[in-house]
Amino acid sequence: MAQGIPDEVMMNTALIKELAEVAKDAALQQGVLMRIKETPNSSELVTYTSFTLFPTPVPKDVFHQALAVQTHYNTLVDKISQDADFLQEALASTIAVDDFTARLFKIHQQILKEGRSQSIVLGLNRSDYMLDQREDGTSSLKQIEINTFAASFGGLASRTPDVHRQILKVAGRLEESQRILDNNPAAGLVGAIAKAWELYGSERAIVMFLVEDTQRNIFDQRCIEYELWKRNIPTRRKGFGDVVKTGKLDQDKRLFVDDLEVAVVYFRNGYMPQNYISEQYWDARLLMERSLAAKCPDISTHLAGTKKVQQVLAKPGVLEKFFPDQPQVVGQIRATFAGLYTLDMGPEGDKTVAMALAAPDRFVLKPQREGGGNNIYGSEICKVLEEMKEPTERTAYILMDKIHPTPSKNYLLKRDAPLQISNCLCELGAYGAYVRRGEDMVMNECVGHLLRTKSSEHADGGVAVGVAVLDNPLLF
Ligand code: ADP
Ligand code: MG
Repeated sequence: MAQGIPDEVMMNTALIKELAEVAKDAALQQGVLMRIKETPNSSELVTYTSFTLFPTPVPKDVFHQALAVQTHYNTLVDKISQDADFLQEALASTIAVDDFTARLFKIHQQILKEGRSQSIVLGLNRSDYMLDQREDGTSSLKQIEINTFAASFGGLASRTPDVHRQILKVAGRLEESQRILDNNPAAGLVGAIAKAWELYGSERAIVMFLVEDTQRNIFDQRCIEYELWKRNIPTRRKGFGDVVKTGKLDQDKRLFVDDLEVAVVYFRNGYMPQNYISEQYWDARLLMERSLAAKCPDISTHLAGTKKVQQVLAKPGVLEKFFPDQPQVVGQIRATFAGLYTLDMGPEGDKTVAMALAAPDRFVLKPQREGGGNNIYGSEICKVLEEMKEPTERTAYILMDKIHPTPSKNYLLKRDAPLQISNCLCELGAYGAYVRRGEDMVMNECVGHLLRTKSSEHADGGVAVGVAVLDNPLLF
């Protein structure tokens, strides 16, 4: 490929072997780390986070398009989160059949009824895209989803550029190495967390990372913790269990966990049904939502990031409602939408079903789940749609056009996996960070990017589930 790494390098077996060794050591030295699956809660033995041997060519214009639209996505998510009527209407058919979304929605309603106790809103998100291949060979930026909850890899993505630079230099590709962009989402995410913490206004109060029980990807989070400590902002890692056992609100609704006052709850856990192993965990979520702590995200921003909301936004006239006098912003956001189709009961949903059954390979069927590995493709789509016990079950899903990115060749470095060339597809993410107090947006920024690459054999799945690996764009 002209824009990328030439074949003479790609196919040079001896060189590739040498580069892979350099690459793994460089990753370890830069802190691109992951705990191993055998001991996910210990740092005695760790490995590198899977990554590509080479950066992947990405066209400049689409890359910059993704960064440029990010602040508008931040605004959009934030506006949706404040529009209770919109959320109610958008999610009505989903919550009728999807228990998890229904439980989240119940918390949202309860908070609305009681009144929000905190006017500081902290939003950290990542909008993910694939570059859809057009017939003329160019590509267009299409959003896969926006993650408003626990968007990860902003820490490790800050550490991978130097790894790729070194590999390229060893490969004798100095020019390409100089084209690897700096990237520091961790610093930007922390800028927003720090702002929210300051606005909360208590030096003793902590930023609480609400973490999973199994913590393989701890180093990604540690990058953010490290940046916070550099700014003298105290942070602690706590699980739902800690909140269940010791969480309480004082009369001003200040949140205390293990007797520490919490200024910011940064959720890195709580987006999957299985994260809530008992009713007490749901009580703990409600307790945090009710509190004066700034939540990242708060419950309404969590709901704004659902796939159903994404589908509703693609309906004609909906974006215009959120940006009434800004046709240019509407245009910029809409340009990134892939085809999204409702499965609500009624003629429009019936049409979607017929369309999916007629050409299942053109679509992806998506439930309201996060974390990779939940989507349905190809003939499975027909099976799922045809074998539903109740027709209304279909409203738990949305249908989306399948995006076809241009494949490229690369080596995926994964622990204990053979070193072999793979046909790869990549997904570009842009990190957004914003802070609002009351009516005032005090910060709204795009703070970096993420490129993840997977073998084209896999239809689905992220880095955490072991399918995708970290990468860097090589702009051309
Ligand atoms: P999750 O919340 O599980 O991350 P995503 O919507 O990001 O859900 O889908 C997971 C993965 O499935 C993506 O990373 C991508 O590889 C693939 N995928 C999702 N939507 C599409 C699509 N419309 N076309 C092609 N691949 C898709
Ligand atoms: Mg995703």
